[in-house]
Amino acid sequence: MTRWIDETLHAHLRCTLEASKVLFEQQTDYQNLIIFENDHFGRVMMLDGVVQLTESDEFIYHEMMAHVGMLSLGNARRILIIGGGDGGVMREVLRYGQVERVVMCELDKTVVEASLEFLPSISQGAFDDPRVELKIGDGVAYVAECKEKFDLVIVDSTEPIGPATPLFGDSFFENCNRILNQPGVLIAQNGLPFMHPEHLSGTAQRLKRIFADSACFLCTQPTYFGGPFALVFASNDLNLRTEQKTQIEPRYNKAGLETRYYNPATHKAAFVLPNYVKRIWQS
Ligand code: SAM
Repeated sequence: MTRWIDETLHAHLRCTLEASKVLFEQQTDYQNLIIFENDHFGRVMMLDGVVQLTESDEFIYHEMMAHVGMLSLGNARRILIIGGGDGGVMREVLRYGQVERVVMCELDKTVVEASLEFLPSISQGAFDDPRVELKIGDGVAYVAECKEKFDLVIVDSTEPIGPATPLFGDSFFENCNRILNQPGVLIAQNGLPFMHPEHLSGTAQRLKRIFADSACFLCTQPTYFGGPFALVFASNDLNLRTEQKTQIEPRYNKAGLETRYYNPATHKAAFVLPNYVKRIWQS
């Protein structure tokens, strides 16, 4: 029996998705998790009434979350993913032969278990890769106690309105900076600047204080309703974003990636911001 499920992220906008079949629904220890089938978008995961991914367009977000950092660095071997329990970002970083170790710190084991059972097309076996270590726990605590160093830290969290809120705070970003190698890159999702400009402006102020270089880049994610989706880039190497412009293409070609959204041109273009986003970033 068809059910209509509201996305409740925005105060004055509701989007409703048709669920032709609910595959999984549970109030976990941390959030409400539902996975359902939609005739247009394929299988959909929502957490606390917010679309996390759909089978139809997840490639956009997961490719941009992974390859902008990987190809800006060129030789990242040790990667930390905070959140990302569906395995999509991890799938993308594991495509590089030089990657030696991927640690995922995901708060909610039910997200991993339900994703493996009902959304196997997202992780595509990534959790079984011998290079992967899955830790179930809070990403804030993990980075605070972490003694390891990583080349790339990717924060694939939910919005800053629930258990992910401290993942947008000063001490979290300071600890991410501490555990990054030099050169090293932090990539984080930062929501919909047209709908929630305060999410991006808050992160911008923190990253500018903590890192030598930081920037916003955008992708268009059809099921993140409310305009372009912001991701952020931060590093302590001022040249990383500029120097590598010429090296992204040969690296991409050498990696032999078959991508559906990411390419060197979309990588560079993603950092070109419309004025309203530029103003939010500079506010
Ligand atoms: N693509 C989605 C987006 O951009 O909103 C994110 C998908 S992923 C499923 C988000 C994950 O972040 C969830 O599995 C959630 O459990 C996890 N998460 C939230 N807060 C966390 C925390 N403090 N530490 C680790 N993982 C966290």
